[in-house]
Amino acid sequence: MPPKKGQTCVYAYPDWCKGCGLCVAFCPTKVFELGPTGKVQVVHEEECINCGFCELHCPDFAIAVLPREEGCAADLHVAQEIRQKMKGYQKG
Ligand code: SF4
Ligand code: SF4
Repeated sequence: MPPKKGQTCVYAYPDWCKGCGLCVAFCPTKVFELGPTGKVQVVHEEECINCGFCELHCPDFAIAVLPREEGCAADLHVAQEIRQKMKGYQKG
């Protein structure tokens, strides 16, 4: 069964993005673009298939992909999610 689109909220935390372009290059459904400031922008959130590549490979932990049923989170909540994930990676 093909992966379902539109099940996620995708958030890129601009303060942490260094504009390396990894997520732009490797997201299979082209969810991201680099904006005029050199930071990543989420431009096609509805295309996300929740593959997890961007979260796993962003060197600065600047991306969170969250289940949409929880609602598209406010920035503060998302920042907390990112930090929780960082703690998990650091422990691992
Ligand atoms: S992989 Fe991370 S640091 Fe690189 S452009 Fe994407 S969000 Fe920014
Ligand atoms: S989870 Fe996969 S499809 Fe969704 S934005 Fe990240 S790389 Fe793209």
